[in-house]
Amino acid sequence: MLPGYRFEMIIGCMSAGKSSELIRRVERARLAYLPTIIFRPAIDTRSKPNHVESRNGLASYAVVVESAKEMLKYSSQAVVIGLDECQFFDIEVIDVIQILLRQRKKIIASGLDLDYRGKPFGPVPHMLAFADRVDKLLAVCRKCGSDFACRTQRTVQSSEQILVGDAEYEARCIDCFEPPSEFQLKLNLPQSEENHLNPQIVDFAPQV
Ligand SMILES: [Zn+2]
Repeated sequence: MLPGYRFEMIIGCMSAGKSSELIRRVERARLAYLPTIIFRPAIDTRSKPNHVESRNGLASYAVVVESAKEMLKYSSQAVVIGLDECQFFDIEVIDVIQILLRQRKKIIASGLDLDYRGKPFGPVPHMLAFADRVDKLLAVCRKCGSDFACRTQRTVQSSEQILVGDAEYEARCIDCFEPPSEFQLKLNLPQSEENHLNPQIVDFAPQV
């Protein structure tokens, strides 16, 4: 059995370096000849097929799975298991992690802790409850440049919780974060009417 932390989580907003930290930790185990594997949910279409990629250019081979349970099929040989973008896994990921931990494997999971509304994202809060070690990474705020960005600002209009893409989001600190107002979530208004009713959303355009 591996000594030390068995279930580590790397969480935070977008552009905080979560995937590169995940790749770094898994590579570290690989350098010690520990069998490793990284999983990525199929819903995340941003990376190349069968890869996990970070925005600073790091990449590693990853197995893309349609469901959390599918991870059990591929992980029998692995000692260290990475999970990227774990906010997109179904809630069964909790049971799968328990099974893998009982098989004496080490798990390193990374993902967004909060969605674009600033609300806990998917299975992540439940995973956090089981984690032995949690590192919350912060990004640099795209609006004011502070070092404390902890929210993911959606810069386009949509009330879908999951809208995959990098161009539609930016990291913001809590003071610069603009959560979508309640009426925008409830009413599916065409964009022109939303602009009319809530002029502040024109400020959502990415800062360049
Ligand atoms: Zn800010």
